[in-house]
Amino acid sequence: AVPDTTFVYDFAQGSRERRDLLGGKGANVAEMTRILGADRVPAGFTITTEACVAYMEADRTEPDGLAAEVAGALARLETHVGKRLGDDADPLLVSVRSGARESMPGMMDTVLNLGLNDRSVEGLAAKTGNARFAWDSYRRFVQMFGNVVRGVPSERIEATIRALKGEHGATLDTDLDVDALRELTARFKTLFEEHTGEPFPQEPGEQLRQSIRAVFDSWMGERAIHYRRINRIPDAWGTAVNVQQMVFGNKGDTSGSGVAFSRDEVTGEPEPSGDFLQNAQGEDVVSGVRNTRDIAELAEIMPAAHAELMEILRTLERHYGDMQDTEFTIEEGHLYMLQTRNAKRPAQAAVRFAVDAVHEGLLDRDGALLTIDASALDALLHPTFDPSAEIHQLARGVAASPGAAKGAVVFTADEAVAAAAEGRAVVLVRPFTEAEDVAGFHAAKGILTSEGGKASHAALVARGMGRPCVCGASTLEIDVEGGEIRAPGGVVIRAGEQIAINGSTGLITTDDVPLVEAEWSEQFETVLEWCDELRTLGVRANADTPQDARRAREFGAEGIGLCRTEHMFMAADRQPKMRAMILADGEEERRAALEQLRPLQQEDFEGLFEAMAGVPVCIRLLDPPLHEFLPQRHEVEAELADLRSAGAAEGGAGGGKIAELERTLVRVKTLEEVNPMLGTRGCRLGILFPEIYEMQVVAIFDAVLAVRERTGKAPLLEVMIPLVDYETELEILRELVLDAATARGLTVGEDFLVGTMIELPRACFQADNIAHHADFFSFGTNDLTQTALGFSRDDVESKFMGVYLDRKILDRSPFETLDTPGVGQMVRMAAWLGRKTKHQLKLGVCGEHGGDPDSIDFFHHSGIDYVSCSPFRVPIARVAAARAAA
Ligand code: ADP
Ligand code: MG
Ligand code: MG
Repeated sequence: AVPDTTFVYDFAQGSRERRDLLGGKGANVAEMTRILGADRVPAGFTITTEACVAYMEADRTEPDGLAAEVAGALARLETHVGKRLGDDADPLLVSVRSGARESMPGMMDTVLNLGLNDRSVEGLAAKTGNARFAWDSYRRFVQMFGNVVRGVPSERIEATIRALKGEHGATLDTDLDVDALRELTARFKTLFEEHTGEPFPQEPGEQLRQSIRAVFDSWMGERAIHYRRINRIPDAWGTAVNVQQMVFGNKGDTSGSGVAFSRDEVTGEPEPSGDFLQNAQGEDVVSGVRNTRDIAELAEIMPAAHAELMEILRTLERHYGDMQDTEFTIEEGHLYMLQTRNAKRPAQAAVRFAVDAVHEGLLDRDGALLTIDASALDALLHPTFDPSAEIHQLARGVAASPGAAKGAVVFTADEAVAAAAEGRAVVLVRPFTEAEDVAGFHAAKGILTSEGGKASHAALVARGMGRPCVCGASTLEIDVEGGEIRAPGGVVIRAGEQIAINGSTGLITTDDVPLVEAEWSEQFETVLEWCDELRTLGVRANADTPQDARRAREFGAEGIGLCRTEHMFMAADRQPKMRAMILADGEEERRAALEQLRPLQQEDFEGLFEAMAGVPVCIRLLDPPLHEFLPQRHEVEAELADLRSAGAAEGGAGGGKIAELERTLVRVKTLEEVNPMLGTRGCRLGILFPEIYEMQVVAIFDAVLAVRERTGKAPLLEVMIPLVDYETELEILRELVLDAATARGLTVGEDFLVGTMIELPRACFQADNIAHHADFFSFGTNDLTQTALGFSRDDVESKFMGVYLDRKILDRSPFETLDTPGVGQMVRMAAWLGRKTKHQLKLGVCGEHGGDPDSIDFFHHSGIDYVSCSPFRVPIARVAAARAAA
């Protein structure tokens, strides 16, 4: 009978449902124990995440009763295995493995072979008749315990191994004989003592206690905190600790260790893939100390174990209903499964799996869509090398994460972060990567390493983030200190020089290869079709030009949710005319200037309307403060000062130009506002200068009529008034629009609609009254966030957002993901109030949030009719909307 416990669970007690308590690794090891049987999974127990939380809360003190529970579980394990921890003659050895709810590469590494000491290593040697194995295990334990539990630096460990190998003329760890390993162990112990000031602990109970504490402590380590921040994992979760009987992959050539995916983890093809090493323990496979072999070769070396592994992969996939990422060890021909989890996969593999899983009957469509992370689909829309480009190959590595990237070489994560902050494109180049490099992955366009394969840290993290990555380009000598890459043929590439990588093929080049947009796979089309059937939320795009509009339609946008007319005034041929309009003296002069702009504006609309025949196009009338179209005050003043001093010297030349600049300066000063984003903008412009909106509305209607006459088709036109606070503002401006329409024989409700943006808190509260004058609402969630929170969206990122995220006041930027408790509630209230007045009121969202999967989920559940986002986010929004409905 299993005793009642609070902090410790035997594997036999756990299950995958208890992931929050047992961590992902512990819950899945328990699950595998149940479904594969106890002889496939080494026995052990899990110390819960709650124990870790209690430990942290008590200022790093183990909670009462934990020690006794661990002792109890250990005693049960000893009975089960028939060996005792610390037995000199036949010791039980265990691994200590961390495991949070979500897998976290920033966490503590594993300690293997715990329980060995100077006496039991001899016992293990005698008992197994394999002294080399016993000493290999012991030296690994001293090495790992020192490094992982007590912080002995990796470089010093590596240097020790290198020196010893040199003395023995060995290239690989496996070349070292018993005596060399004995010597290595001794040197590691000396190193341990130098570093910690204590002798290496010989007592296994003490080894275990320290290891458990180290796992708990690693939860609050810098790397882990950094990783959690990037991945939005709460600090409060804590990590579990797994203590598990050791099985040995380092017992000779009928033993080994590896990783296996139930399908190809890069392409998603339904062939298992993976890497393994003969005569090795698990860490060797990931660390890249030896070059791994492909899992297919296992079929020749150990056919029975290979066949069993393939069968188990199928079983696990069926059981979990998802692609699996596993770790295994073979001890003298016997296969053990040490870990399984749903495989992280790049977007193309996720899509491929979803489609295959439905065809294989593994999942239904809803279930399959739920296996796709919508935000990761970005990678499918990323560029690749132009296939027609002739590329000179510098080197080739492992295609570890798909997509192509090009940029200047940087050698450290810090440099990558600094470069990204300046808007420079860089490729992070390192021999290999570690958890502390993760921030650099974010900042870089791509990652290149000279060591490690598809299971290396660099590959895993890059795929998780959707960054292109080439690993294990072993012909490159990456000299971080020297700041250069030495390539075959004496080619040297220095920091700052350009490099390009293709993470889909492994190619590396210094050519300036053109990057081209991704081709969509047939599977991606299939997934998107399923999404369109399933989702109820519409997806439109924000587009201002016919080109953007066409691209948006190719990506599946069902219309334009926001056309910002001001962008049409930024073009070089428009700016002087726009400026003349703003500088105009009085209404008459302004009308004359507007007449110059009108045909250009109409031309733009015609192009847009032709591209969007038959679908909705929502056009927002001029929104930004006028001074945005004028030169900056200090520029005008500087120019004026120059002209004046030149004029004084030459005696009066340039007088006309001076007068013009003086006029500009006066106007710039008049229009200047302390808080332009809260100033004369949006519908306030339309109220103050109705002739501006009149010109725009006339251009819109004339364009519709022209396109209708030319093509017989027209879009479903929506005219949108921005930044409304008061229903009277909208009432006045709606009148203005309707007058222009009536004069052209156009009817509201038939030929077009008039609506408003809801982007100010007052408009949310007054939405029922405002709705009397609106045929639709479009939530401008950028401005609504800015005004509801009082956060200037142009400043917060660089000023205080970082601190707010660090201090956990926020867990993500409210400009990226909608602040649902605040801004989201205002959206819901306005939607409800608006529909109270008009049952059929059409509701859209046109802020950045319209392309953010989490926000989309909220909008779906808030009765919104459609979201609108940038063209590139449209496919993501389609998938996110379907997932919200699934
Ligand atoms: P990570 O989370 O970094 O993958 P793990 O706890 O999974 O760390 O351990 C890494 C590797 O160590 C495993 O893949 C396995 O090869 C090896 N390992 C862990 N526990 C044992 C064990 N009980 N017996 C043999 N090998 C083990
Ligand atoms: Mg693992
Ligand atoms: Mg706005």
